[in-house]
Amino acid sequence: SIGFINGQFIEINQAVIPIEERGHQFGDGVYEFVKVYNSVPFLLEEHINRLEKSAAGIDIKLPYSLGEIKAIVIESIKKSGLKDAEVYFQATRGIAPRNHAFPDVSSSFTLTVKPSRKVPKQSYEEGIDTILLEDERWGRCHIKSLNLLPNILAKHQAAKGGNFEAILVKDGYVTEGTSSNVFVVKNGVLYTTPLTSNILAGITREAILKLAESANVVSIEKKFTPEFLSEADEAFISSTSVEILPIRAVNQQLIGNGKPGETTKTLHNLLCKLRDGSFAS
Ligand code: PMP
Repeated sequence: SIGFINGQFIEINQAVIPIEERGHQFGDGVYEFVKVYNSVPFLLEEHINRLEKSAAGIDIKLPYSLGEIKAIVIESIKKSGLKDAEVYFQATRGIAPRNHAFPDVSSSFTLTVKPSRKVPKQSYEEGIDTILLEDERWGRCHIKSLNLLPNILAKHQAAKGGNFEAILVKDGYVTEGTSSNVFVVKNGVLYTTPLTSNILAGITREAILKLAESANVVSIEKKFTPEFLSEADEAFISSTSVEILPIRAVNQQLIGNGKPGETTKTLHNLLCKLRDGSFAS
């Protein structure tokens, strides 16, 4: 594992953040999470572009150009010596005497590279259990902000009951998971929540929609209710860290026959091919 802060590589647990750092005190910042397969960061440019959008969304000017960030990520992976890794990076508004109103200070950029955590194989083979919870988040969920209290509390509640993910519901419609997007398959058609400020534009979500098109799976971006999800033939969550994980049950009610569905498996195979193709040759 390795850390990086504002131009310097450090040991991951080295103390480097002053108390009056706004990411630390206010969660005043944005982040990204990228998976590295066989030394190659998957869909890196997409993630860096999203970081820029998130930063612009809260008026933070990144301390590096997108090209510089790309170079830092690649150098960090090299330095870590890891082949299968996860890269976390964040930009915060920087350091200033604590005050809600913010001065024009220079932003801060930190990054870690760590060995990839693995989702148990069994979760892919059998699917995961989920619960439905009220979406208590703010109105700008398209920004990948450091403020994750509602997400972590919902995830914790799910985990306490032995569930892998909490699926969030706002005004009667499914938005997304606490750290994933949600897809449903019904009568061979793929459904997912449309991009609004209520959800994060998942990089994996986007890749899946393109792969679906290439496989002639019709996809519709449309709001759907928890009932529609529960009555689906198949359902799955998507994210950088889990790729595609079949949903076995929602609130203990099985989806379809409770086994990962064919469309889900097809899309996951295609995603794996896309990923493996990114470092082949
Ligand atoms: N929604 C939320 C709230 C998330 O935290 C994540 C994980 N980053 C996702 C969706 C999935 O996004 P991605 O595919 O880019 O990892």
